[in-house]
Amino acid sequence: MPHPPHNGFYPRPLTKREREWIYWILPLEHPGYADVRHLIDHMVVLGEGRRGKGELILGYEDDTIDLSAPLAPVFAYGVIETDFGWISVTLREMENDQLSVEIVSQRAEEIPELFEESRRWTYSTWISGAPCPQCAAGVREVRMHTSGTSGRVLVLAVCRKDLRIWVCDAEDGVNRLIPVTNFYNELMLHKGIRDPAVALDAKRFFHELEKYSDPDLTHAFQTYNAMKMKVHVEGAIEHEHEESRSWFNAIRRIFSRHSV
Ligand SMILES: [Zn+2]
Repeated sequence: MPHPPHNGFYPRPLTKREREWIYWILPLEHPGYADVRHLIDHMVVLGEGRRGKGELILGYEDDTIDLSAPLAPVFAYGVIETDFGWISVTLREMENDQLSVEIVSQRAEEIPELFEESRRWTYSTWISGAPCPQCAAGVREVRMHTSGTSGRVLVLAVCRKDLRIWVCDAEDGVNRLIPVTNFYNELMLHKGIRDPAVALDAKRFFHELEKYSDPDLTHAFQTYNAMKMKVHVEGAIEHEHEESRSWFNAIRRIFSRHSV
């Protein structure tokens, strides 16, 4: 084993604790997360990101930190609840063979060596039909698929209690968090709602979720995704009208992986 890292000296290997937390939000049962975990196996910490202490940039040993690209969208997220508050672990999409991971305490203090962990939860392990990872309540699910030959299956999931939206890609099992404001903006445009009291208050989305049909939410996701390319798809994204065979096959594949 290499020596423990000295503060400020890079590149360095991930500490045992950092690696355990990062791998926890990259479950092997979900192929999209497993792929990234296998890349991290060969990576080191190149240094700190622009968000300062707590944000590590992972990359290959000979590489130098590249901060030219804008902050990438979140790829995996989890929270460890402890006796001194929450520790959140946020891994972003890969940019130029580098990964940003933030491991921070909600109290913005240094994370102590010893603490009591009460529980932990991550969106990465969620599968269609499961409750919300954070609050264990049921979630609204909108089943979607892409048009054309690929026929990719996606599930939009909404937790009213935690004010969270995420999209599950049944192909690789990755659950991506969707920023509520951007998504709501697309929904308002689609519905032609211009009243600022409604259109600018994204939190209303969760209280008034029943007002919006599955096709409404699918349309909002499609236009949001076309702009932000959260999920790389070809062709249009359509609402899943029936309990189709491709849908069940895709879900079964995830379940069979999950039960390994
Ligand atoms: Zn929840």
